[in-house]
Amino acid sequence: MRPNSDSGQNRSAAQSLLLAELAQICGQPNLLSQGDLSAWERDWRGRSHGKALAVARPDSTEQVAQVVQACARHGASIVPQGGNTGLVVGSTPDASGTQVVLSLQRMNQVLCVDKANLTMTVQAGCILQNLQEVARQEGLLFPLSLAAEGSCTIGGNLATNAGGTQVLRYGNARELCLGLQVVNAQGQIWEGLSGLRKDNTGYDLRDLFVGSEGTLGVITAATLKLYPLPAAQITAWAAVPTMEQAVALLGAAQLHLSASLTGFEVMGQFALSLVAKHFDALRVPFYKNSGFCVLLENSDAQSPEHAREMLERLLEDAMEQGLVSDAVIAQSVTQAQQLWHVREAIPLAQAQEGLNIKHDISVPISRIPEFVQHTNALLEREIAGVRMVNFGHLGDGNLHYNVQAPEGQDAQLFLQSQEARVNALVYDSVRAFGGSISAEHGVGGLKVHELEHHKSPVALGMMRAIKRALDPQDLLNPGRVLRV
Ligand SMILES: Cc1cc2nc3c(=O)[nH]c(=O)nc-3n(C[C@H](O)[C@H](O)[C@H](O)COP(=O)(O)OP(=O)(O)OC[C@H]3O[C@@H](n4cnc5c(N)ncnc54)[C@H](O)[C@@H]3O)c2cc1C
Repeated sequence: MRPNSDSGQNRSAAQSLLLAELAQICGQPNLLSQGDLSAWERDWRGRSHGKALAVARPDSTEQVAQVVQACARHGASIVPQGGNTGLVVGSTPDASGTQVVLSLQRMNQVLCVDKANLTMTVQAGCILQNLQEVARQEGLLFPLSLAAEGSCTIGGNLATNAGGTQVLRYGNARELCLGLQVVNAQGQIWEGLSGLRKDNTGYDLRDLFVGSEGTLGVITAATLKLYPLPAAQITAWAAVPTMEQAVALLGAAQLHLSASLTGFEVMGQFALSLVAKHFDALRVPFYKNSGFCVLLENSDAQSPEHAREMLERLLEDAMEQGLVSDAVIAQSVTQAQQLWHVREAIPLAQAQEGLNIKHDISVPISRIPEFVQHTNALLEREIAGVRMVNFGHLGDGNLHYNVQAPEGQDAQLFLQSQEARVNALVYDSVRAFGGSISAEHGVGGLKVHELEHHKSPVALGMMRAIKRALDPQDLLNPGRVLRV
């Protein structure tokens, strides 16, 4: 059912047959093939609007398996989709009108919580925020947290190996996952829902599917790690003059707070000015007079008082050393949430400001100040007036290094004329500093070309061999991550 493979008439007969089979599997109301499907066809950033043959919305693993089998029989490729919040054009169909979007949204049940094993087993379509809430109701913590948590699904989080704000202490989605259930490209169900923390029995299939962005299998359920809820989470906001001082403050925080440091986010002045501009209701502290602001979170097992004292001591010392020029510690949960909202509003404020060139990169933490200085200077020299929106998870060496058009310039035109040049400059600089061109968002359809350029031929060869072995028909999200 690839375009060009058949005459229009045959193709449409084959498509009708497939649609009838899919409707039988999922139930007619759960097979969408007419009307406005843009919620499934357009990516979150509005950079790509594809055309799906249909959106199939199964509600069980068996139905997913049958959908995959039917598509495989008809040679129709499949684009798995969760919350469609991905930022690299990985979850939406291409423009051919022949791909089936396989939406996991209806598979949103928590299957069990095992408090003694500190795990929960959930279906792939569960919204991340709902899982955090379920854990909290049990007096436990599911630490994965990111600004899209109200819409993204755990299946999507695992498929992209999502990061977010708590990686510093708890790791990426990969580290929070003990087991998976997956439907492979042949429509077979792999039952890997283990709650084991130790299992050295050959190749780690779980780790193969985590981060594979829907190209190797469809994740249908997962067993996830839970943690004891900390007695307190105290948040502070600090103004730091330069990125060097932000990195020095991170070092001091790691020394003082050790494992109780659960968040360390950095935000550049221009990024914060966009929040102030587009979100009237949010108060953005100290940003006008400092190059960067930092959000710190201290999660303490003892008490709120202890957590606060630790943070106070850290910030007093940092001020004495000249690392911090101003700081505030949230006095209530509401105040802490307001500070986090400012951080989370940056991607939204940027979207309101207009299209921009996004880079989700990582560099060894020690080299970030030099990287930022070097790359800023390079871009400013090449494109006068260009504006850098820098923010991200400094504690993980992960920066969102985004490039906005000069003031007053049309964003669309800027993208068309400068994107390739800006990407080349930024990614070459990332490589020179020993970094990665995708820290947490993945490759999707957006960075396939970049991956081919920056990954070693040996690594690409092994990745292609895996893809060919598991999905010889190239049915699952073809053209995403890598071309075979
Ligand atoms: C405002 C905002 C802030 C964000 N912040 C962060 C952040 O801090 N850290 C971060 O890592 N990401 C962040 N993201 C990106 C995004 O939220 C994550 O990539 C998220 O994990 C995607 O989940 P999803 O359910 O929306 O997946 P989708 O967007 O639907 O899909 C993403 C990819 O996973 C595949 N996929 C989805 N579900 C499955 C499944 N069940 N089985 C197999 N493959 C599947 C898709 O084919 C696609 O390739 C942010 C996004 C937004 C909009």
